[in-house]
Amino acid sequence: MGAADAQTKRPLCFLLLGPPGAGKGTQSAIIARRTGVARISTGEMLRDAIARKTPLGEQAAPLMDNGNLVPDSLLVALIAERVTEADCTNGFLLDGFPRTVNQAESLDRLVADRGMELVVMNFDVPRAVLLRRLSGRRWCPNCQATYHVETSPSKKPGICDQCGSKLIQRPDDRENVVAKRLEAYEAQTVPVIQHYEKRGPVHRVDGYRDVDDVFAEVEQYLTGAMS
Ligand code: AMP
Repeated sequence: MGAADAQTKRPLCFLLLGPPGAGKGTQSAIIARRTGVARISTGEMLRDAIARKTPLGEQAAPLMDNGNLVPDSLLVALIAERVTEADCTNGFLLDGFPRTVNQAESLDRLVADRGMELVVMNFDVPRAVLLRRLSGRRWCPNCQATYHVETSPSKKPGICDQCGSKLIQRPDDRENVVAKRLEAYEAQTVPVIQHYEKRGPVHRVDGYRDVDDVFAEVEQYLTGAMS
């Protein structure tokens, strides 16, 4: 890419769509580490707000614990504020947002106002695999690192490799809550994929593979989008 191109290239907004357990969190963390792009995970921001007992956290906790989505107005405000931070100037990556068509329309306006370009990926994973992944997922309430009891266990069982805290199961990864989350996904988030398919390319990623194989494909697609 030449210097002139670099000056005219619009900042990118990467969207990682897909059901809970599809690997969006894992892949977005790798992308952020490798490329330095700012990663915004709305689920992590909400869990952090719950831990800090902020007004947002107090509102979100009962909804999340039952597998429901948090109201659009709260999420749209959260994103609008987050993207004004300095690390988002040259682009950002969203994990877990937008989850409704209403959120997608707000994001479309934000992206247009900032002169950004969207790059959309959709992670596809069979339902039986999602259920296995979510039921075996373990989470560190201190640093939000995630593990899986079979596929990516912590070095010391039940203890976070990164900060030494005790790992737990996320309250919304319990079996009955997972079923509700998948219902919410089908009803409210699948239409978001259709929303973007009408506007431009949505790259389908087969998420039922090794983390490294999935990342190799993601990297190839992103490199193309960034060049
Ligand atoms: P995640 O960590 O992305 O699986 O999100 C966990 C939970 O946070 C979801 O089940 C929702 O209750 C809530 N949440 C995260 N992102 C959003 C969003 N964009 N809109 C509404 N609720 C959200």
